[in-house]
Amino acid sequence: MSKICLCLTGKTIKQDVDLLSKYRKYADLAELRVDCLDAGERLYIRRFPELAGIPVILTVRRDVDGGYFTGGEGARLKLLANGLAYANADSRFNFAYVDIEEDFNVPSLEEAARTFGTRIIRSCHDLEGTLTDIPAKMKSMKHAGDEIIKIAVAVKSTRDVLNVFNASGSFANQDKILICMGHYGVYSRILAEKFGSFLTYSSALSESVIPGAPGQLDVKELSELYHFRKITKKTKVYGVVGNPLKSSVSPWFFNTIFNLEEADAVYAPFPVTDVGDFMELAKEIDIQGLSVTVPYKETVLQYLGQKSAIVQSIGACNNLYRKDDIWVGDNTDYAGFSSSLLNFLDRKNLKHSKITILGAGGVARAVAAEVFNMGGKALILNRTTHKAREIAELYKFRWGGLDNNGAALMSKYNDIIIQTTSVGMEGYNESDPAEFYTFTGKEAVMDLIYTPAQTPLLKRAATAGCRILNGYDMVIRQACFQYVNFFGREIPKKHIDSLGENKWNKTT
Ligand code: NAP
Repeated sequence: MSKICLCLTGKTIKQDVDLLSKYRKYADLAELRVDCLDAGERLYIRRFPELAGIPVILTVRRDVDGGYFTGGEGARLKLLANGLAYANADSRFNFAYVDIEEDFNVPSLEEAARTFGTRIIRSCHDLEGTLTDIPAKMKSMKHAGDEIIKIAVAVKSTRDVLNVFNASGSFANQDKILICMGHYGVYSRILAEKFGSFLTYSSALSESVIPGAPGQLDVKELSELYHFRKITKKTKVYGVVGNPLKSSVSPWFFNTIFNLEEADAVYAPFPVTDVGDFMELAKEIDIQGLSVTVPYKETVLQYLGQKSAIVQSIGACNNLYRKDDIWVGDNTDYAGFSSSLLNFLDRKNLKHSKITILGAGGVARAVAAEVFNMGGKALILNRTTHKAREIAELYKFRWGGLDNNGAALMSKYNDIIIQTTSVGMEGYNESDPAEFYTFTGKEAVMDLIYTPAQTPLLKRAATAGCRILNGYDMVIRQACFQYVNFFGREIPKKHIDSLGENKWNKTT
């Protein structure tokens, strides 16, 4: 089974040892990145395996390969030779692996390593992501037969990830390392076992150390949330497709539930550049179910073999699950939104309520349809007013812009305010989309955003005395509906209750 390797990128041996003592339980082996050590510290690397307590890879990564070593090859050879010198008969006191690049050709060093049981990792770092025939490359790198071939590609697209995955069948029964570096390859690090990779590299990101390479996950998260060490070839794979996906709650939610249920399943983030390429990869990896988010809720429709009634009527899909050989598409945003809002208001419908919907994007369509279905009368305000008008006309609602005219209308539609724009979202535009409107304190305000837990709009509403709700409850409710589609049963209530307070639902 694939192993977790913790990259040690401290400036001193002590920093690396301290890091290991804190995170050793989450890792199967460690990589000493000698290139990250201060020059004076590099003199003391020989004793590191003894201090580490787990198998260690000796690596002096050059800057051209994505590392920090800028000296010449002679100096690098000296460091590697120093690390492997005075080999101990007890292999625990020696480096277990040494990582040398494909163009590093020093047979005597390799010979010395082999004699004392140090395995060679022969690596190729494709920082441009231009490698096309990866199996041929791997073949050309195999010299002695016992090396672990490592290919690390800086992927820029989903097609690049597919290209790496297609090499997973090469050297099927031999240890090899296949990694997709960067944002679009993050799931190759979680699904290393499916990619046929001997190990996955990770860092202690919560310690603000520099990651060993772009896209690495936090070692504790990999071990505790993704249960990396339980992932086998048989583990069922689920995940969320979108871009950029940084603030999605779904991986946390589903993996927490899978862990509580002791299900042999993992849920990964799939930031993708092309849905078609990803669907090809999904078939190869045998993915069982997907959540879909911005901007792919419509693009994904063409890959569905069957659509639920709601997907057929509104043309947006946020949930895919497998039925025999086809993908079935559903939309759970609708039911998630209405059940969350009614629960918040402690009501059965919206009859006699006048409601403002801020925004006219994808989710606003679902919100407007549900407000109509629940008997509410609404005003839709949006930056691009023709989009507000298009939706409003479907339900005989009123419409306007996010401006002072909008504010005047809003004061007549202010029993409930539903904020559906992306404004206020962490990392996007952390402002207030309705700063032109003064809350009376009587409004019930729901903001669909949940990162941050309180947007500027919600903060202002709370200060004015309004009841407020963020989008966490909705996203959990819609995820529960997705779970039913994935597994044909509901999540036990005790599991939902056990989620408790977290960074997304904190209201203070
Ligand atoms: P979308 O289709 O991209 O729509 C974005 C909306 O935000 C549009 O109305 C857009 O106005 C408006 N907007 C964006 N930037 C703006 C700005 N600078 N000033 C004013 N308006 C701006 O996205 P979506 O799928 O509807 O999602 C919208 C939000 O809802 C996101 O924050 C998403 O995370 C959240 N959401 C939450 C849940 C949940 O379960 N809690 C579910 C789905 C979505 P224009 O039309 O003028 O561009």
